[in-house]
Amino acid sequence: MIPFNKPPSTGNEEQYILQSIKSLKISGDGDFSKKCHQWFEEKLNCEKVLLTPSCTHALEMAAILLDIREGDEVIMPSYTFVSTANAFTLRGAKIVFVDIRPDTMNIDETKIEQAITNKTKVIVPVHYAGIACEMDAIMKIASRYGLFVVEDAAQGMMSSYKNRPLGTIGHLGTYSFHETKNYTSAGEGGLLIINDKQFIEKAEVIREKGTNRSLFFRGMVDKYTWVNIGSSYLLNDVSAAYLWGNLEKADEINQNRLNSWQSYYKELKPLEEKRLIELPNIPKECIHNSHMFYLKVKDIEERTKFLEYLNKNGIFAVFHYVPLHSSAAGKKFGRFVGKDIFTTRESERLVRLPMYYQLKPKDIYYISRIVHDYFSN
Ligand SMILES: *Cc1c(COP(=O)(O)O)cnc(C)c1O
Repeated sequence: MIPFNKPPSTGNEEQYILQSIKSLKISGDGDFSKKCHQWFEEKLNCEKVLLTPSCTHALEMAAILLDIREGDEVIMPSYTFVSTANAFTLRGAKIVFVDIRPDTMNIDETKIEQAITNKTKVIVPVHYAGIACEMDAIMKIASRYGLFVVEDAAQGMMSSYKNRPLGTIGHLGTYSFHETKNYTSAGEGGLLIINDKQFIEKAEVIREKGTNRSLFFRGMVDKYTWVNIGSSYLLNDVSAAYLWGNLEKADEINQNRLNSWQSYYKELKPLEEKRLIELPNIPKECIHNSHMFYLKVKDIEERTKFLEYLNKNGIFAVFHYVPLHSSAAGKKFGRFVGKDIFTTRESERLVRLPMYYQLKPKDIYYISRIVHDYFSN
């Protein structure tokens, strides 16, 4: 069986984990966390980054930072992972879903404005498959209406929009280091990216259980106390040690994935030319990170048969995201504004093929051959 995913490991992760354990600083913000923080701040050229226990937690921090309260409205696509919505629902917000664009599966920037009310506070673009949303248009709308933008860039590390790294364009951004993402930390992990200075100190307080412990460590107050609401949003250093092994080889991991993506694309292009499948579109202002390779088949019936065929031939392929607005919680905590023209229809046609660091070229050829076989029958 060819697995769907393998977490990246480049050789030094084990050694770094041992080193972290031996340092006796295995809780939050130890040596490896510091190395990772510095790496991201240089790479992203942003105001501040904070490692978190997951992207879910980074999104929760964003919702607390933006002071989201009962009755506030947050606009996002329905085609996304639950955490994008849940983080804001936890603060009492109403989720307002709008339709996606069929070419990128991202929020349709032209549908956002009609969903804005006087309760709207935030827009959450999700960069699906590491391919950027139309950020210029989204930032323009946000500034016209005085809204915040939180980029859910869980899938978007190493991707960019007009040469700006994803996660650094909105007021806040988030990454995920879950084992299914391009870069991983042992266990789970995430990152909050702060692009607006006004949030730095408050974010440090929220992350340190609502205390000003960070100021204390920097010698700026002589004892630390409870100053605001917060929780424990630090990543442990053993997890950061694994992540550091990945970060040292970030370009190598990225290039390897891109090569796999290109091979799939080249092998499957003839099927698209025959209009049997559709392949992803990368808008010209986007550089992507090959987070996933997906294709679209005719409809849900065909997808079920297609997935069975792949499975029978030893290929573990998957689909995902039952649109949130059709879920039980989505109905309770959100509403869809405008027509669902593409969200449901496109989500039912999408299939993700195996994609991971060091996926073997011979496996890509084998998978492509099986896909061709399916469509020639
Ligand atoms: C994976 C993912 C998340 C959640 O990340 P975790 O680190 O698992 O909490 C959130 N949003 C999107 C779009 C994701 O793909």
